[in-house]
Amino acid sequence: MKKQIQAIQSYTPEEPLSEVKKRYGIKRLVRLSANENPYGTSACVKEAILKWNFEEENRYPDGYAFELRKAVAHKLNVDGKKLIFGVGLDEIIAMFSRIFLETGDEVLVTNPTFSEYALHAGIEGAKVIKINCDKETGKYNFNSFLDNITSKTKIIWLCNPNNPTGTYEDVADIEEFVKKVPKSVLVLIDEAYIDYVTESKHPSALELSKQFENVAVLRTFSKIYGLANYRVGYAVVSAKIATYMEAARLPYNLSSISQVAALAGLQDQQFVNTSIEKNKKERQKWEKFLTNNGFRFYHSQANFIFFQCLQADTLAERLLKHGYQVRRGLRPDWLRVTIGEPEDNLEIQKIMIAKE
Ligand code: PMP
Repeated sequence: MKKQIQAIQSYTPEEPLSEVKKRYGIKRLVRLSANENPYGTSACVKEAILKWNFEEENRYPDGYAFELRKAVAHKLNVDGKKLIFGVGLDEIIAMFSRIFLETGDEVLVTNPTFSEYALHAGIEGAKVIKINCDKETGKYNFNSFLDNITSKTKIIWLCNPNNPTGTYEDVADIEEFVKKVPKSVLVLIDEAYIDYVTESKHPSALELSKQFENVAVLRTFSKIYGLANYRVGYAVVSAKIATYMEAARLPYNLSSISQVAALAGLQDQQFVNTSIEKNKKERQKWEKFLTNNGFRFYHSQANFIFFQCLQADTLAERLLKHGYQVRRGLRPDWLRVTIGEPEDNLEIQKIMIAKE
C-alpha cells in the first residue's frame, strides 16, 4: 500500500441529512454547507430524464459522451477533442494528480482553498506548498506563488472564485501570472463558481487555456446548473494533455442519465440566468448585513460567503438546532455559508444577532 494512504489515520464519513435531523430533533434541515444551487434544477432536466429510453439500462453508456461533448464544445467555442469529462470535478482533480504527479513533486495552492487539491497531491506523494491569501482581501498572493516555484513544481492550482473565500481574480492578473510561470508547470484553473461572477463581463480564463498549452480550465454541472447529484465535471485542456487523460480515464465514467441531465441543463439558459440574478441579490443583502453588524468577511463573487465570528462552533450548533447546516472548520473562528433562498438567509441572519 502507498505510504501516503497508510498515513491517513481516520476518515469520518459525512452524516446524511436524515441522521442530522434525527439527532437534532428537527423536521426541516437546509444544507447551506456544500454550495449547491438552492433553487433546484431546471425543469428541462426532469423532462429529459423521463424521456430517457429505459430499455438501455443493461447497456454501457456512451464512454466518450459524444452528445454532451458536442454541446459543451459548441457553447464554449472549443474543440471537442480538448474536453475531458469526469464524475464531478472531483474526479478531474484526482485524475490530474494521478497522471501528472510523482513522489517528491511540488504543488502550489492558495490558503485557504478547496481541500481536494491537497488531498490528491498528497496521495500521489507530492509536497503541497500552501501560500497564504492576502489577509485583508482574501485574494491570491501571485508574487509569493512565483517565489515558491522550483524545478520540482508540477502543478499550480488556482480556484476562481476561490472556495472558501469567494474572492475573484481578474483574468488579466491571471494572464500576467501565467506568462511568468515556466511552461513545464501546469496551471489548473478551477472555475466551479465562475457563473456567479457578476463584476466582470468576461470572467473566465477559458481563452488562456486555448493560448497556453500548460493551462487548463475546470468546470462542473454541480453548482449553477443545480445538478450536483448527477456528478458531471469537465476540463478544457490542450490536445496533448487530452490524449494522456483520455488514455487514463475510466472508460464508462459518466452514466447515460448523467449525460442526459447535463445536456438538458445546458439547454436551459433561463434557469441559469435566474439563479445568477437571485444569488447576486441575496449576496448583496448578506454583505450589507455582515457590514452593518460588524462581521469581518471577504467580498464574494460566488454563491457562498466566508465570514469571521467569535465562537464559530457555538453559532454553527445554534444554526443546526434551527435547521441550518453551514460549513465550519475551514479556518478557526470563520464560517462559510451558502447563499440560500431569501427567507432562509433572513432567518439565519436573525439567529446570528439574536441574544441567546
Ligand atoms: N472545485 C471546487 C472549488 C468545489 O467547491 C467543488 C465542490 N464543492 C468541486 C470542485 C467539486 O465539484 P463536483 O461536484 O463537480 O465534484
